[in-house]
Amino acid sequence: MKKVFIETYGCQMNQSDSEIVGAIVEKNGYELTTELEDADIIFVNTCSIRENAEQRVKNRLSQFENLKKKKPNLKVGVLGCMAERLKDDLFKENKSVDIIVGPDSYRDIPSLLDEVENGQKAASVLLSKEETYSEIIPVRLGSNGVSAFISIMRGCENFCSYCVVPFTRGKERSRDYRTILNEAKDLFEKGYREITLLGQNVNSYRWEEEGKTTNFAQLMEMIAKISPLLRVRFSTSHPKDISEELIKTIASYDNICNYIHLPVQSGSNRMLEKMNRKYTREDYMNKIEMIKKYIPDCSISTDIITGFCSETLEDHNDTLSMMEWVGYDYAFMFNYSQRPNTIAAKKFEDDIPAEEKTRRLEEIIVIQRELSHKSNIKDIGKEFEVLIEGKSKRSEDKLFGRTSQNKVVIFDKEDFKIGDYIKVKIKECTSATLIGEKVN
Ligand code: SAM
Ligand code: SF4
Repeated sequence: MKKVFIETYGCQMNQSDSEIVGAIVEKNGYELTTELEDADIIFVNTCSIRENAEQRVKNRLSQFENLKKKKPNLKVGVLGCMAERLKDDLFKENKSVDIIVGPDSYRDIPSLLDEVENGQKAASVLLSKEETYSEIIPVRLGSNGVSAFISIMRGCENFCSYCVVPFTRGKERSRDYRTILNEAKDLFEKGYREITLLGQNVNSYRWEEEGKTTNFAQLMEMIAKISPLLRVRFSTSHPKDISEELIKTIASYDNICNYIHLPVQSGSNRMLEKMNRKYTREDYMNKIEMIKKYIPDCSISTDIITGFCSETLEDHNDTLSMMEWVGYDYAFMFNYSQRPNTIAAKKFEDDIPAEEKTRRLEEIIVIQRELSHKSNIKDIGKEFEVLIEGKSKRSEDKLFGRTSQNKVVIFDKEDFKIGDYIKVKIKECTSATLIGEKVN
């Protein structure tokens, strides 16, 4: 049996896609391996979101070129967003590449592998309006047996001006809710206790059939009802679409986690318009107020892009003041990276010097560290239910788990098992972690 090694870069959606690829190759007589040295086939599932993400993959492909000198029959495949964006150019740029497969063509992998047997190259990069890999039960790669991702939709049609995703992942489409429910039930029966529903904009999940529509809030509710012991999370909400109905649904189920990732990108109305985000600073603040009204202990995280085209210090300060106003619990923060063929690349100049982007980014990171620390300090003395996910990296005698608010808590191992729920009281914290003690 030939062995396949899958290496994944980028977002949770890519992780989930690799698990679909795993299922497809296993079903077709290949074996998955976690050891690169044992592989007959290496698949790299790639990310195009920023230039440095692509650069990392290109460096890796050069390493595989050396590996192929030692192992001439080794095949290398590039999957996902870079495959879609660069298509055949990848063959020209990287001699090690044998197969190129876009995000909607994973079902073609077995036939592409047959094609490359005799030293040819093979590619499949057509985007689809329908493919959701609906009935494929993913192989859980690198799983802790407790938390799993379920992809509920694919693609994106928001066309934020800086973003490459609508070009690499194609049209937005939702997956049949029954297959999502079956996957969630199956996971629960196998002992999983937390699932994260994935999509680029989960609020626009919509399954229509015989005049009946199932929306995201209804889908969440169906999943929450599987068992009170199954935690439900989701990512990502778009601020323009997050609805009162969804927030009320989160508030009314204990097992839907009190955590919302709501990417703001910028606090400046001028930047938001240029980014084509379709909300204003004020709209965003109203959404935050709505969340806090229904779910007072909800934690909120965000994504921020710094140094977007023509961003002034005033625009930057609007982002800083937005951060302070919301008091984000966590943030993913990035320098703007121009992506070829996006609306921003065609229409605007990438005119903020790299050093200035980084200076602004560092300012943002410092503020976020303080905000995260402040948020953690507020938790000291409070009690939380924690789902145990694994062993602490720093100490053999400690375990770690997460609160509903998605905060990591470290506590003594005693005789708890991974997958147990325990109640802990928070004693101390750093800006990144809570330290707790079991209470009865
Ligand atoms: N669909 C999600 C959303 O709208 O929030 C996530 C998309 S993307 C995988 C995750 C984050 O990458 C975005 O929220 C944005 O902050 C960042 N990003 C996207 N394009 C970027 C670019 N060209 N340069 C820097 N950061 C970018
Ligand atoms: Fe990109 Fe915007 Fe779609 Fe998110 S919503 S994937 S940032 S285009």
